[in-house]
Amino acid sequence: MENIAILGSTGSIGQSTFGVVDRLKHRFSVVGLAAGRNTRLLQEQIEKYKPKIVSLERKEEAEELRRKCDVSSLRITFGQDGAEEVASFEESDIVISAITGINGLRPTVASIKAGKKVALANKESMVVAGPLIKALARKSGSQIIPVDSEHSGVFQCLAKERKEFVKRVVLTASGGPFFRTALSEMKKKTVEEALKHPRWEMGKKVTIDSATLMNKGLELIEARWFFDLQPKQLEILIHPQSIVHSLVEMNDGSVLAQPSPTDMKIPIQYALTYPERENGLLPSLDLSKIKALEFFEVDQNKFPLVSLSRRALEEGDSFPVALNAANEVVVGDFLKNRLKFLDISDVIKSALNGHKKRKIESLEDIFEVDWETRAETLRLLKERF
Ligand code: MG
Repeated sequence: MENIAILGSTGSIGQSTFGVVDRLKHRFSVVGLAAGRNTRLLQEQIEKYKPKIVSLERKEEAEELRRKCDVSSLRITFGQDGAEEVASFEESDIVISAITGINGLRPTVASIKAGKKVALANKESMVVAGPLIKALARKSGSQIIPVDSEHSGVFQCLAKERKEFVKRVVLTASGGPFFRTALSEMKKKTVEEALKHPRWEMGKKVTIDSATLMNKGLELIEARWFFDLQPKQLEILIHPQSIVHSLVEMNDGSVLAQPSPTDMKIPIQYALTYPERENGLLPSLDLSKIKALEFFEVDQNKFPLVSLSRRALEEGDSFPVALNAANEVVVGDFLKNRLKFLDISDVIKSALNGHKKRKIESLEDIFEVDWETRAETLRLLKERF
C-alpha cells in the first residue's frame, strides 16, 4: 500500500483525486488531508477515508471540526503550520499538492524537504520558486511529477527522451470562454460569464486565469523549470477541443503529442501511479467522433497577459513572483465583482511595469516580493476604482 496526503482536499483537484483513489483502493490509502474552510466536506472525507491528520486554514474551523469529529486517533490542526505538518507527515509516501496560489508554496516545500513523491498541481510553486524547489528535490531525493494536464503531457512525451534533443515544447490552451468573443464585447463580460469554462471544470481562480489566458502564461513559466527549457523553446497554441494537451518537437523534426480525454483524473492517476500505470475508467478517446482538432495562434490584443507572462518568463528572478502576486490580488477582486474583465490585465500590467527586478535566493525573498507586489497592486486598484 502507498499512503497519500492530499493538500487542497476539498478543492477541484482534491475531489478528483478521491475519484482516482476510490478505484485504486488496492493500492492507495489516504492518511492526511489539508483543506481551506469547507469543514462540512472535510468531515465527510474524514468519515470515508479515515486519515490520521487533517488541517484547516483557520483555528475557528479546526475547533468546529474538533467538536464534530469524535475520533481520538485523528490529529486536527490548522494554518500554514498545519498544512506543512500534513505535507511532511511521516506516514505518507505521496503528497498531492493542490492548494491554490502561493499559499501552496510552504506546504509543497515541506513535502519536498521530507523527500516525498510530490504530485504537483499547485503550479504557482513552480512559477515563483522553480529553481529553489528543484534544488531542494535534488537534495532530499524527492520526485516531483506534474499534475497540470499540459505538463503531464510533456512529462509523458519526454519519459524516454533526452533533453538535449528537444527543440521546442508547445502547451495548448482551450482559449477559455472568450476565445471567439470580439475584443469590444469582452469589456462587458461578467464574473459569471468568465466562470463558464467550455472544457474543464476547475476551481474559480484557475477558471478566471483560463478566461484571461494568464493560466497559460503561468504554465509557460512552470514548464521552463519543470523541464529545464529556455524561454524561446516554449510556445502556446489555442486548441479549442482540449484533446492534445501538449506537443514536443524533437531536433529531427519528429513531433510527440499527448492526446487524451479531457478529464483531470487522467493526469492525477498518472502522477500517483508513475512510473507504473493502472487501468483507466474513462471511455477510450474516439477521434472519429471528435472529427477535427483545431489549432490557432493566441490573439495578443485580446489576451495581453500572455505577452506579459512571456516578459516575466524572460526577465526571470523576481518577475514571475510579482506577476503571480498581482494576478492573485486582481483575480480576487474580480471574483468579488469589483472590476471589469479587461481591467484584470490592465492592473496586472501596471503592477509589473512598476516592478524592480531582484534576485531570488530564498523563500523569504519570494514572500517579500509577493507581499510588496500585493500592497502595490491593492494601491493601484484603490486608485482606479
Ligand atoms: Mg493546465
